[in-house]
Amino acid sequence: MAANGYDVIVVGARCAGSPTAMLLARKGYRVLVVDRATFPSDTISTHLVHPPGVAALARWGLLDRLIATGCPQIDTYLFDFGPIVISGAPGTADTPVAYAPRRTILDKLLVDAAAEAGAEVREGFTVDEVVVEDGRVTGIRGRGHGGAAVTEHARVVVGADGLHSLVAEAVRPQRYHEKPKLLAAYYSYWSGLPTKGTFETYIRPGRGMAAIPTHDDLTLVIAGWPYAEFETNRTDIEGNYLKALSLAPPFADRVDAATREERFVGMAVPNTFHKPYGPGWALVGDAGYIRDFITAQGISDAFRSAELCTTALDESMSGMRPHDEAMSAYQATRDADALPMYEFTCELATLEPPPPDLVQLLSGIQGKQPAMDEFVRLNAGVVSPADFFAPANVARLVGAP
Ligand SMILES: Cc1cc2nc3c(=O)[nH]c(=O)nc-3n(C[C@H](O)[C@H](O)[C@H](O)COP(=O)(O)OP(=O)(O)OC[C@H]3O[C@@H](n4cnc5c(N)ncnc54)[C@H](O)[C@@H]3O)c2cc1C
Repeated sequence: MAANGYDVIVVGARCAGSPTAMLLARKGYRVLVVDRATFPSDTISTHLVHPPGVAALARWGLLDRLIATGCPQIDTYLFDFGPIVISGAPGTADTPVAYAPRRTILDKLLVDAAAEAGAEVREGFTVDEVVVEDGRVTGIRGRGHGGAAVTEHARVVVGADGLHSLVAEAVRPQRYHEKPKLLAAYYSYWSGLPTKGTFETYIRPGRGMAAIPTHDDLTLVIAGWPYAEFETNRTDIEGNYLKALSLAPPFADRVDAATREERFVGMAVPNTFHKPYGPGWALVGDAGYIRDFITAQGISDAFRSAELCTTALDESMSGMRPHDEAMSAYQATRDADALPMYEFTCELATLEPPPPDLVQLLSGIQGKQPAMDEFVRLNAGVVSPADFFAPANVARLVGAP
């Protein structure tokens, strides 16, 4: 334990930060986690949690709590390309379903779990500055609502502070595999739009739409277009959203008969990896690796990075392994896990028509349930794109009866 201050300060308390704080506190470390938000609160993000993310919640003993909130389970994913429709089961025998909990509920559950594990949680606390001494991060300076500035010290400061990470801005990590913003999308919540436990996706030229069942019998509907249209389309978000839906008429008719319950929100995100560690600091979640949301991997990735990073920090702080060796293993594992899905995600986010070989593959598997399940599990992050698109696997899928 740190003689003075904390072992670890985590900046940001949502999908990456609270699990990081929770896992370290469970190992006995003295942890402070701060967020300028208070909880429960929403954030701009749809919230499909694929089976690998659900499995993380189960490992942490939190899945039953999520289920107890009345979050509907999602046992089917449907991909409607127009002429081709693929639908199947996203999970595995151990974790067969996905969930799409409202962030108000999921993030609060995670913050509470961090506090229960023994982490000190400061909500409504904004970090203004990362403290650096002799080239090493040693703490944070920030303040609570209307309060005076305070400084806190730790052996390691973890940036779990998302897309516009102040920690990453301060430590200027190496960036790699960078790609520009590719997609802009907007969503809202609708009542009277049942999806019967199905995550529905509609892919049309230059447009992508999806419907996701969530708490309170609401269905989230998102519609997106290429980032090149971001500026022109933002002058009439509702009109462009409805125009996109009209490309899938039966779906548009269902939405037309439903009631919109909330305002439209949306955005675009860049695509990049950050080196996730350096002297006295580490990055988890979007602060360390961000990718377009079209494949809905961010929450599951945030959970995964929290587990990998806390394992590495524990190895380092307990003296089990040299710091750089442990943290470079975190980076290598994160990147190897994420890279094939990152490339697949960025390709999909262009909203360009599927290339001919993919069309051929999709036509070849349409109607064959085991092969369709495998395509669905690819999109759920259960099957790696590298394995799915391996020529021998494609031949096996298409050739199957
Ligand atoms: C439109 C959209 C749709 C998405 N849909 C999905 C989806 O369906 N499924 C999925 O898995 N992922 C989705 N994502 C991605 C997902 O939202 C993110 O990957 C995930 O939220 C990352 O979690 P995080 O904890 O790293 O960051 P965040 O959730 O962004 O949390 C960062 C926290 O840090 C706090 N913070 C920031 N700066 C400071 C500061 N200086 N001081 C104190 N606190 C600070 C913020 O208040 C915030 O609470 C979507 C994203 C977008 C934009």
